[in-house]
Amino acid sequence: MDIKYNKEGLVPAIIQDAITKNVLMLGYMNEEAYNKTIETKQVTFYSRSKQRLWTKGEESGNFLNLVDIKNDCDNDTLLLQVEPVGPTCHKGTDTCWGEKNMASYGFLSKLENVIEERVANKDTNKSYVASLFAKGINKVAQKVGEEAVETVIEAMDNNDELFLYESADLLFHYLMLLQAKGFRLKDIEDELKGRQK
Ligand code: AMP
Ligand code: ZN
Ligand code: ZN
Ligand code: ZN
Repeated sequence: MDIKYNKEGLVPAIIQDAITKNVLMLGYMNEEAYNKTIETKQVTFYSRSKQRLWTKGEESGNFLNLVDIKNDCDNDTLLLQVEPVGPTCHKGTDTCWGEKNMASYGFLSKLENVIEERVANKDTNKSYVASLFAKGINKVAQKVGEEAVETVIEAMDNNDELFLYESADLLFHYLMLLQAKGFRLKDIEDELKGRQK
């Protein structure tokens, strides 16, 4: 790889979780650190404070297993996608910015949070979610059943517009049912992952 090291012989390396895509930390590499990282498949930096090669996790055991390494558009910043063994920051947090390294499903995660907030506020006059929850979990489950049937009907009817509409209804009510049962999308991801291979 054609890497442009700076005048100290270093290149910044952004460390990203390969699955969640969260940024875990930033470190610097010299050529030796880069080569060692490629060889061992465990991220090694050049530590400016220690003034030596530093394999992340060498004391804590919280190694960063290399999944992929990419050079940026002008070859002066590396992106390392990793699988972290434990919390990345030496202060004990998942990321060096104090964040949890949580799976995020973008807009669907936002929707999960909105549902959670509506349920907590219990404003049954203003919120459809709150009013459905107030009727009990069986009503939520029943709605999922209805929306599933509607989705099936539109799928068989070859009407894309209505199929998408009912699919959205189904997914929305399914998110509510998950929440009513005390689960999140992540739990479903874990279940599906457990079935691989
Ligand atoms: P470790 O590499 O996890 O065994 O940690 C060894 C030492 O490296 C720690 O005591 C810290 O001084 C330093 N260190 C570990 N993780 C980080 C980090 N994410 N950012 C900066 N320094 C770190
Ligand atoms: Zn650049
Ligand atoms: Zn840190
Ligand atoms: Zn519907």
